Amino acid sequence: MLKRVKDKFDLHPERLIADTAYGSGPMLDWLVKRKIAPHIPVIDKAGRTDGTWSRADFEWDAANNQYICPEGEALKQFRRNYSDPNRGPTGKGVAKYQALKHTCQACPSKMKCCPKADARKITREEHEDARDVARAIRKTRQYKVSSKLRKKVEMLFAHLKRILGLGRLRLRGPCGTNDEFLLAATAQNIRKLAKIFPAPQQTRKA
Ligand code: SF4
Repeated sequence: MLKRVKDKFDLHPERLIADTAYGSGPMLDWLVKRKIAPHIPVIDKAGRTDGTWSRADFEWDAANNQYICPEGEALKQFRRNYSDPNRGPTGKGVAKYQALKHTCQACPSKMKCCPKADARKITREEHEDARDVARAIRKTRQYKVSSKLRKKVEMLFAHLKRILGLGRLRLRGPCGTNDEFLLAATAQNIRKLAKIFPAPQQTRKA
């Protein structure tokens, strides 16, 4: 779609608004690399349901490639240097970060952090930087505006499906589909126009 819009209208969007279905790491990374701000909720399965701290409670320290826990301790991926770079911090894929066992054992917040493990571990996905960009955008005022715009568009699709009966198409093939959607969109626009320019009220003659 982005390529079509670029080819046809020479437009390159600054931001893209979509729902959670588009919030996967690879998709967000693809957008961020093209300098398109993802106004998209992140798919995040790192949340915990048992009341213990989740990954979001740990601060990411990019400069030192480590997480900092709420008690101020570092969770590191490697604590020694590797001669093979693929095993080191530049390796691709899911990275695992771990606190020191003796630090967690003596920590007053252990029950809130890792009650069943010797030390706390956190994983970081390959596209976590892009996911962090999307998370930061989500806290902005502009994101709230984007959400309202998205809901406006989604309402139109819901109206097409529920009121105009486009849950199922009657015509077959791409041309038939195009015709049906064009007619339905025309009906929606006429409906909108009728709201903007209401018909003059008839007055009864005495
Ligand atoms: S248990 Fe370990 S990782 Fe968790 S808060 Fe305490 S020191 Fe930090």
